[in-house]
Amino acid sequence: MDRQTLTFNFNGQASAELDGLVQRLRTVFEANGYCYVKNTNTPRVALNFLSNDGVKAYRRNIPETFVLSLMEVSKAPSNPIEEWYPYLVRTLSNMLLVYIPGKRAHFFTLDLGYFVEDFSEGFYDRLFERIHPMASSVLVVKNRFEPDLEPELWNGDELSGMLSEAGKKLGEWDLLPAAFPIDKILPPKDFRHVQRLYGIGGLSYGNLSVRKDEQRFWMSASGVDKSKLRVVGRDILMVKGYDRRENAIVLSVPTIVEPRRVSVDAIEHWLIYQEHPEVKAIIHVHAWMEGVPTTLFQYPCGTYQLGQAVAEKVRDAADPAETIVGLKNHGLTVTGRSLSHILERIDGKLLKHVPME
Ligand SMILES: [Zn+2]
Repeated sequence: MDRQTLTFNFNGQASAELDGLVQRLRTVFEANGYCYVKNTNTPRVALNFLSNDGVKAYRRNIPETFVLSLMEVSKAPSNPIEEWYPYLVRTLSNMLLVYIPGKRAHFFTLDLGYFVEDFSEGFYDRLFERIHPMASSVLVVKNRFEPDLEPELWNGDELSGMLSEAGKKLGEWDLLPAAFPIDKILPPKDFRHVQRLYGIGGLSYGNLSVRKDEQRFWMSASGVDKSKLRVVGRDILMVKGYDRRENAIVLSVPTIVEPRRVSVDAIEHWLIYQEHPEVKAIIHVHAWMEGVPTTLFQYPCGTYQLGQAVAEKVRDAADPAETIVGLKNHGLTVTGRSLSHILERIDGKLLKHVPME
């Protein structure tokens, strides 16, 4: 978790209006300790300009490069997410900023985050505050598979059975939004690039886990249908640790299955289970509940910083094993003494729409 030097550079040709915007942004970046490096193909942050004629993918040389694509348009369509989200995916960006000169900036993130900053006092500083937490956080996407799961667990146990049941419930309650068909709009090569980049099996939303013992917990895999969790090693993984040095999630897997990756939020669950022995289950959904304590910044899924921010809210709660935390512009993480203890508390109470601010 070394703090890297936050270098940034520009890529592509900016229109005059866009250039005006990024020159102001550059000043704010530099005032906040970022360092502009002209000739590098391994920047920490790449500001990538899109032009109207053809959208090109940005292919990183190192996975740590955070790509913020920017484009200028004259007015917003009636459904900005539907219209513009595909640009984020096609350009392989982490974040997309659509600028309507003199009016506002629309932001999009991979987890379907969408928010708007109006062009008024403090505009450039507010843009920076949107970008910085996303750009400076560190993904924990590496998985290390160790084929040491006890054979008696290869077909699961009572707890993994409960995990499947809870996943089915979330499906019945319509809390598992259809995954964005990222594999349909990207050529296979680019899809593999995105998979490596974010450590995802595919884009799906929500995850759940249940504690096995002091160290370990069962957790849903990445990119699978959470309402159909069946096979251990494929749909349900046994998380046994986090290797700080390697920045990797360590998984116990059976020798008979080609393992899938665990959900990217494993680090968040791991941090909570480590700190609170009384927490026995965790569910994360892209839904909302009024009046819950909420994280201050929007961090990307699967980052150490998001994990820490949620763990902090759980720590502050009167009862860490009975907490509902709001993840800003994203969803909820709910802890419980069992999976049913969580389901009972959210049944019928969730708002499907996550407020974006
Ligand atoms: Zn999520």
